[in-house]
Amino acid sequence: MSTFQVTFWGVRGSRPTPDFSHFRYGGNTSCVEVQAGGQTIILDAGSGLTELSHSLTQRARQTQDDATRATLLFSHLHHDHTQGLPFFFPAFNPHNRIHIFGPDLTGNGFPHDINEIVMPPYFPLTLSDMRGVCGVQDFLLNHVLLLGGDLPGPLLRSADAPDIPGQEAMVKVEGLFAQEHPNDILYYRISYRGRSLVYASDREPETVRGIDAFSRFAHHTDLLIHDAQYTEAHYFGLQPGSPCTKGWGHSYTKLACKAATAAGARQLVLTHYDPEYDDATVDEIGRRAQNWYSGAQLAYEGMTIDLTPTQPPPQLPAPHPADAETDLDFWMQDSKTRPSRN
Ligand SMILES: [Zn+2]
Repeated sequence: MSTFQVTFWGVRGSRPTPDFSHFRYGGNTSCVEVQAGGQTIILDAGSGLTELSHSLTQRARQTQDDATRATLLFSHLHHDHTQGLPFFFPAFNPHNRIHIFGPDLTGNGFPHDINEIVMPPYFPLTLSDMRGVCGVQDFLLNHVLLLGGDLPGPLLRSADAPDIPGQEAMVKVEGLFAQEHPNDILYYRISYRGRSLVYASDREPETVRGIDAFSRFAHHTDLLIHDAQYTEAHYFGLQPGSPCTKGWGHSYTKLACKAATAAGARQLVLTHYDPEYDDATVDEIGRRAQNWYSGAQLAYEGMTIDLTPTQPPPQLPAPHPADAETDLDFWMQDSKTRPSRN
């Protein structure tokens, strides 16, 4: 029951890429499952949610009441984070209990906005046909979400409110509203029994220097899941045939590593790869990342990270001497003549 595990079901940015050359990391868009203290939390509903749906249904069959209970948290409403929702099969079963939360990024309220994703003529059914969904709520500014303990379901309450009995044993979800992605975004920090993860799948930091709001939010987290969509050359428009992507709301490898270092994150997992990048390119991104954050890992579909409190915490990575170097020189070389070193 004290398990705290993170599993990746979709690690691709922008659009799904069902291509053999993308097979090792996977072509599904953003979806991460968190199991903490017996609670199932799902971060984003990209196309990876479909595979998770099958797994949850299979797991429910092994329980006494054959029911799926889950809390689905949306970071924002771009297609690559929502396109799995209409195919979230457990949500259509009235026997299940699915709670959905997300940010109000339009002023119309999150329930209104998410409703428009699942309705004709975009999809033949509506959100009200999802009989397993118990509630859809705004994740409010300066609020925290509590799960587990004796609570009958997720409880969203003011961050300033005094603790409730047994809160120390509950799962706590905090949010950081940010303008570091077009149309804004909500980052999540999930804590359980002294361990935590921060989910920032789509992020272009405003600065790579100093301590910003994100660094404080992610301070000393055990696991930072961070956007690493582009190579540095691609980001700056120096990759032949590709546009400059600066300002598109995503990071290149070094930015992600710098964010982890600024926050003092204990582990860094890179995700949300550009859909044009094949496995070999993502391999190279992982090798390059070691120049700025020792031990940075590349997310792939099926990857699980154990944050269970009974395990010793991971060591903080050592500062790297190449910290200030640019990555551009490497990526500007012809791929056939690139050195094989990191
Ligand atoms: Zn995205």
